[in-house]
Amino acid sequence: MADIVDSATRSRYMAAVRSRGNLSTEAKMVNLLRKYHLRGWRSHYPLPGTPDFCWLKPRLALFVDGCFWHGCPRCYKTPKSNVAYWQNKVKTNRRRDRRVDAMLRRKGWAVIRTWECQLKLSRTVKRIERTLQKKGWAKNPVCQTPESAESPPP
Ligand SMILES: [Zn+2]
Repeated sequence: MADIVDSATRSRYMAAVRSRGNLSTEAKMVNLLRKYHLRGWRSHYPLPGTPDFCWLKPRLALFVDGCFWHGCPRCYKTPKSNVAYWQNKVKTNRRRDRRVDAMLRRKGWAVIRTWECQLKLSRTVKRIERTLQKKGWAKNPVCQTPESAESPPP
């Protein structure tokens, strides 16, 4: 019936949701990284799939996947209308995620994906930290120097 108006309205709405969602999700991740003193990341570096964050030297790509757009097993519910459209949309996104992961791994990158609903968890940070360390990255290497440079007792 009012299909054209509806879909135009809907895509405007979704675009708004998407940009708002991305902003707050990214800001949350930045806060989390700061809180745990994880430094040295870049955001939106031009790599396959444009990871939300990455560490260039240890080669870790970090994606924060939106629960709605990527079909989070905890939060995702298919919208009540246009079921087929949304199911297909999420399926396509997930397929692209897998392709991007494979592409990055082939280039020697570690890939971590986390859901936006997991953003406050220290577990998420631990995962990032562990992977970085495994790849030879040291947390705050500069800060350790002054203490160890102190002269030993006579
Ligand atoms: Zn979720």
